[in-house]
Amino acid sequence: MKFNTKTIHAGVHPDPETGAIMTPIYQTSTYAQKAPGDHKGYEYSRTHNPTRTQLQNNLAALENARFGMCFSTGMAAIDAVIKLLHPGDEVIATNDLYGGSYRIFTKVFAAYGIVFHFVDMSDVENVKQKINDKTKLIWVETPTNPLLKIIDISAMADIAKSNSCLLCVDNTFASPYLQNPMDLGADIVMHSVTKYINGHSDVVMGALVCNDENLHERLTFIQNSCGGTPGPQDCFLALRGIKTLHLRMQRHCENGEAIAHFLHNHPKVDKVYWPGFTEHPNHEIAKTQMRAFGGMMSFTLKGDKLEDAFKVISSTKLFTLAESLGGVESLCGHPASMTHASIPKEEREKAGLKDTLIRLSVGIEDVDDLIEDLKQAIG
Ligand SMILES: *Cc1c(COP(=O)(O)O)cnc(C)c1O
Repeated sequence: MKFNTKTIHAGVHPDPETGAIMTPIYQTSTYAQKAPGDHKGYEYSRTHNPTRTQLQNNLAALENARFGMCFSTGMAAIDAVIKLLHPGDEVIATNDLYGGSYRIFTKVFAAYGIVFHFVDMSDVENVKQKINDKTKLIWVETPTNPLLKIIDISAMADIAKSNSCLLCVDNTFASPYLQNPMDLGADIVMHSVTKYINGHSDVVMGALVCNDENLHERLTFIQNSCGGTPGPQDCFLALRGIKTLHLRMQRHCENGEAIAHFLHNHPKVDKVYWPGFTEHPNHEIAKTQMRAFGGMMSFTLKGDKLEDAFKVISSTKLFTLAESLGGVESLCGHPASMTHASIPKEEREKAGLKDTLIRLSVGIEDVDDLIEDLKQAIG
């Protein structure tokens, strides 16, 4: 089955009882048993829920994986992956990373004795230098946030395999439409379903997919023990959102390309970070591992004045100033004071993240209106 068919049909089936074409919301905490242990595969909704099962199977299919697991949030999914580790284990992670991931690594799990190294993974050598026999996990986010660097997933998979450690790819920015890390050798793919997958800014949810049966068992054990599971109503909404994922992504990419070029040619704009430009330093890798270049981009203004960046993000009318990304509506944000505020300024600047950087999540509105909006805001 091709991707555009999978979004609609994979893993879901009409309700056997009524024929309802849409997966029902099984709003139930528990399930009747005929005799102790004699049930239909469902005992208690922290462990399993039929609405969630169909979403999990659908997500696994979208990422070409055997197993899917849905979590209450993206952070709960990340939490479960790190709980595979033990004190003394080491993790190598992307330095240009989602702020919440940096926070849970450094402010929660470091206290449990897990050691995190943050390196610029767009240079594979940096990972090779840090890896040792205590490394148990390589954590990749690509495109990176907010600088849109591209990390070579296959190269990371090779390093992980030759050092017997796991490779987990946070695929939130790309979505399964643009990139399938399992096909490139990842052991686990993580998503904030909140973003492109659900796509309508009305659900917070996370997901993991994997192929290894033992890994799946350990992750579901952690999830059932710790409890970060989503409710059936949210699973229904995510399934509904996914049915148009391919159409939305197609438009996000078209609009993204037009806006990247508009910004690139604007006299007041200094740099535009978007992997679709041939002069982007990782464009060649992007071309090999992504189907298109997406609707996420960042740019800086000439002159480097923080007030100028603040003026732009407070003057847009269609681009709403807000955290998050990947919804149908266009959003703009200021990483240094919003999504990445939990990363110390010194660390931010080391990673090349200027205080004047503006991030855009280009939505699926009419692109002419979006360009007009940016035109009047940048001035
Ligand atoms: C939003 C996001 C997360 C966290 O997901 P939540 O659903 O907000 O908990 C993790 N990684 C990336 C890249 C994100 O954008």
